[in-house]
Amino acid sequence: MKRVYNFSAGPSMLPKEVLERAAAEMLDYEGSGTSVMEMSHRSPVYDKIIKDAEALLRQVMGIPDTYKVLFLQGGASTQFAAVPLNLMNGSKKADYVLSGQFSTKAWQEAKKYGDAVAAASSKDVNFSAVPKVKREDFRADADYVHICMNNTIYGTKFPYIPDTGEIPLVADMSSCILSEPVDVTRFGLIYAGAQKNMAPAGLTVVIVKEELLSKARAETPTMLDYKVMADNGSMYNTPPTYCIYIAKLVYEWILGLGGLKAMQARNEKKAALLYDYLDGQSYYRAPVDKESRSLMNVTFVTGDAELDKKFCAEAAERGLVNLKGHRSVGGMRASIYNAMPYEGVEALVGFMEEFAKENPKK
Ligand SMILES: *Cc1c(COP(=O)(O)O)cnc(C)c1O
Repeated sequence: MKRVYNFSAGPSMLPKEVLERAAAEMLDYEGSGTSVMEMSHRSPVYDKIIKDAEALLRQVMGIPDTYKVLFLQGGASTQFAAVPLNLMNGSKKADYVLSGQFSTKAWQEAKKYGDAVAAASSKDVNFSAVPKVKREDFRADADYVHICMNNTIYGTKFPYIPDTGEIPLVADMSSCILSEPVDVTRFGLIYAGAQKNMAPAGLTVVIVKEELLSKARAETPTMLDYKVMADNGSMYNTPPTYCIYIAKLVYEWILGLGGLKAMQARNEKKAALLYDYLDGQSYYRAPVDKESRSLMNVTFVTGDAELDKKFCAEAAERGLVNLKGHRSVGGMRASIYNAMPYEGVEALVGFMEEFAKENPKK
């Protein structure tokens, strides 16, 4: 069996140890005689899985008791509507910081529900940096401020948490959750699709301050109402049971490695290997502003679309797959989430050196 280094932006690699454990438990989970996939979500054995998953996530991220943790479906994109439906119900104003494609989509969705404005944007620099925002940039009576913490497509990340004063800060953390420690108390709500750094596709995690529940608009679909989901322990209907089980194994894996501080050290070491190489040569160019560089998604180009194409094809032959940049930006993107081993990035840098030597530019 040969496993490749998968640089996909998502769904992405899962830790080998987690896949092995899932495989070992596949046919008979802890003597239950069934797979987790086949279990009733109302069974005591599954109840322990989902409760353990929540407790472990709370431990990993240091989530205070004043926050609810929800295991939902619909992907991060469903949260683009759920957030305004649940929270844009005071002044019906919300301020969005546009730092890429997902934050722009989130804003466009919110505009359906009220006075959502773009308080800041880095579109003028092709989203190659995140906007620098201050408290004064936001309307004092806004129901919330929305940011996308890590911009998966462009390879940028907020190097700071915006100060929004009393206004609740909502963050899409789909592609950076669990990559480093984060002070949850600075946020009113955090959401993340699981398929980047947490579990297979199909699970969305929402971490929301309890005082923000019960504000949902009357027309909010039941399935999108955070209060309903919180009151039912994420089991108003059938939750994505298997994804939650894998997420639990991932949380255990992170704790086993020493938690998010250790995860951050690993991720910084991996990213530094790639960024240091990019900074020390001139064949490839990293288009992103240094201060805004993502730890998880590293973008680079040769400057020649044909060479970029050749690069991705030849890399794939070496078992370095899914390096093609997003269709809207081109070039290359190496997503180096938690589960990507250091050796994978070493192999990539080795290939980059070789490719540059063998394909001189005209
Ligand atoms: C992938 C991604 C999304 C979209 O997630 P879905 O689960 O496919 O809806 C939204 N935001 C960010 C930051 C992402 O990386």
